[in-house]
Amino acid sequence: MKNSKILLTLLIISLLLPLSTVAHQPTTTKVSVNTTNSELQETSAKLAGNILVNGQAMNYLQTLTDRFGARLTTTKAYQRSAEWAAEEFRAMGIKNVRLEKFTMDGWERVLSARARMLTPIDRPIILHSMGWTPSTPTNGIKGEVVLLKDFSIDKIKAQADIFKGKILLLDPNTAFSEGRLNALLKASDVYLALKEIGAQAVLIPDQYENNIVKARKASFGTKVTALPVAALGSEDNQLIRRSLEKGSVTIEFQYENRTPGDVQVDNVIAEIPGREKPDEWILIGAHLDSWDFGTGAQDNGSGSATVLDVARAIASLGQAPRRSIRFALWGGEEQGLLGSKAYIGAHKGEMDKCIAVLNTDNGAGHPNGWKVQGRNDVYEAMKPISNMLTSLNGNTLSYEVSFNTDHAYFVLEGVPALDLLVDMAHYDDVHHKSSDTIDKVNPHSLATATAIVAITGYTLAEQPKTLAPRLGHDAIEEILKKANLLDFLKKSGDWK
Ligand SMILES: [Zn+2]
Repeated sequence: MKNSKILLTLLIISLLLPLSTVAHQPTTTKVSVNTTNSELQETSAKLAGNILVNGQAMNYLQTLTDRFGARLTTTKAYQRSAEWAAEEFRAMGIKNVRLEKFTMDGWERVLSARARMLTPIDRPIILHSMGWTPSTPTNGIKGEVVLLKDFSIDKIKAQADIFKGKILLLDPNTAFSEGRLNALLKASDVYLALKEIGAQAVLIPDQYENNIVKARKASFGTKVTALPVAALGSEDNQLIRRSLEKGSVTIEFQYENRTPGDVQVDNVIAEIPGREKPDEWILIGAHLDSWDFGTGAQDNGSGSATVLDVARAIASLGQAPRRSIRFALWGGEEQGLLGSKAYIGAHKGEMDKCIAVLNTDNGAGHPNGWKVQGRNDVYEAMKPISNMLTSLNGNTLSYEVSFNTDHAYFVLEGVPALDLLVDMAHYDDVHHKSSDTIDKVNPHSLATATAIVAITGYTLAEQPKTLAPRLGHDAIEEILKKANLLDFLKKSGDWK
């Protein structure tokens, strides 16, 4: 199964985890080194001026969010937004624009949940289907709530009599005692065991005030789970927990999801061929897909708008840089970085010629610079470029290794991969929630991020020397080890 080994989703879908793993060198440094050649400086000023004064990123973002809405991968809205983005690249005069397909299991929320507590009191409660889980039966699910304290198949089988016919409310404190990552790795098997003993559904409590629920998946991969799994609002979870201490609780709920099986999904790829070394390329990418509660403005309409506006600004220079620049808008990121992973699989033979990858997916806060993913050589080589970003306040370089978005599988390829470093103080306020809408995006921060990506990307493509070599297996493993990622990547099957 293509998706059985996806790991990285976890860092995205699992609510209690930090979004990234901090590497061995905690240093984050503002760079100040005298640089650089005047022509590059001039082109950078031109790019930044174009973007900061005449930028289109907010317009792109408004189209993405208001015209297409949420862009959940495998839905028509995603597909339409991919086709629109391809047209936009062509409208910039970029000739080499492709939709590159990959396949994944489809899922879409058709009818939101209606849910009630029936006893001990009769009142509405807030819950929502988790992604890539099935609909309830047409007439809904009605039953007694029982706590699920163990996420272990053996212990579940031993309690088959207790769980049969029940709705199981997961207690994260005990059920996830061996860590959420480990729990999620085996979640599909646990749900299957629960289905086999006749449990009706699983509820997983969320942790946000006002019963706000985040969109996320219930397991690894995109195989639809064996039984319905829903996220339950925090206050309603607490009500049920208090009520369970006094006696029995019954609830009922109903919702409908579409699960069409395999769906073809498009990554959008646009290339400006290099004028001297067209076979060497840098990639500037962001995921186009979003979760479905909001309209994915922060995550990751903002990154997609950045990629589009960087392409527009570079294309408008009239002269291609020395090396090729590929612009990528990925699908399937939220379900496990599936689009970028598929792209690497389809372009394995070209990875030696990939000079660098720039990814942007850390929200709409103020951009500060780049995360160099634990690499000293990249850090040193980036200093002169970083220096050019000083007046944008984008000259911070961080060693942080973040394994939660589309640069991640490029890190495993040993390719120099940089992830935009952004102030994430307010990221979680709207992350995967219905409040992830365009009003949360600051146009100035978005334009600044766009200018930083454009200058960095253009400079990397233009410089006489390449940024840093492609790393071999042992050097990559060393980075993963220091970032405490190695064990997990081995367990998930992503690293041998
Ligand atoms: Zn994202």
